Amino acid sequence: MLEFVPNFFMQLKNEIENIFRYVFPNICGICGKINENYICEKCKKRIKKFEKYELIDKEILNFNYKIKISVFDKEKDNKNYDDKIYFDNLFYCFEYKGIIRNLLLKYKFSGASYLCYFFANVILNNKKINEIFKLYDIIIPVPMDKNKKLRRGYNQTELIVNIINKNLGINVNTNILKKIKSTKTQSKLNFYERQKNIKNAFLVKNKSLIENKKIILFDDIYTTGATVNEISKILKFAGAKEILILIIAKN
Ligand SMILES: [Zn+2]
Repeated sequence: MLEFVPNFFMQLKNEIENIFRYVFPNICGICGKINENYICEKCKKRIKKFEKYELIDKEILNFNYKIKISVFDKEKDNKNYDDKIYFDNLFYCFEYKGIIRNLLLKYKFSGASYLCYFFANVILNNKKINEIFKLYDIIIPVPMDKNKKLRRGYNQTELIVNIINKNLGINVNTNILKKIKSTKTQSKLNFYERQKNIKNAFLVKNKSLIENKKIILFDDIYTTGATVNEISKILKFAGAKEILILIIAKN
């Protein structure tokens, strides 16, 4: 009960803020001041030190992955994990720290769905990402299972991708992938448990739409990469030509 009370008021505050922001969407996602770009000059400076906008290629990803596995190997001696990376590149906007981390947690777990405008505009206003979009055929958000989406009320990756779709020509499809298994929250699990938890959790619904296509898979937070790697695996098996993981913040 003690935990419930502050949580309830925080949810209520976010709900009121959600309604307000949908009526007046042109305000800074951080401080709430009116701003056409969804972020004011002052807050732009506040997030500056977490900005990366970095593209990491497969060789580096593979190298880091092997290190993670070797560390884990020594700890647990468990050989049942997949030691392959199935996506080709990774692009991330921010480091998962400070104000960015707080904003993402608020967006994901406290019902602050209005922050979709802020994050979508961070992506839309970045030149590098816009250049990357031109090289790909389709963008797919990481899906959520039905029950979780009902409980949260929204899929945070889908909201952002839908705004990107309205503003850019890139083909967005939220019907290619389906999450078919309820999984535990990944943040509480270790490297191996994350892989095991997410295994066989997704399904490609429409193979013909991704065959020979260059795909951007969009997710909010990247830690071990278990989720996006599992999805990349089934997308590649279904015939996808190339996969770029687009992430808001990386650990
Ligand atoms: Zn601001």
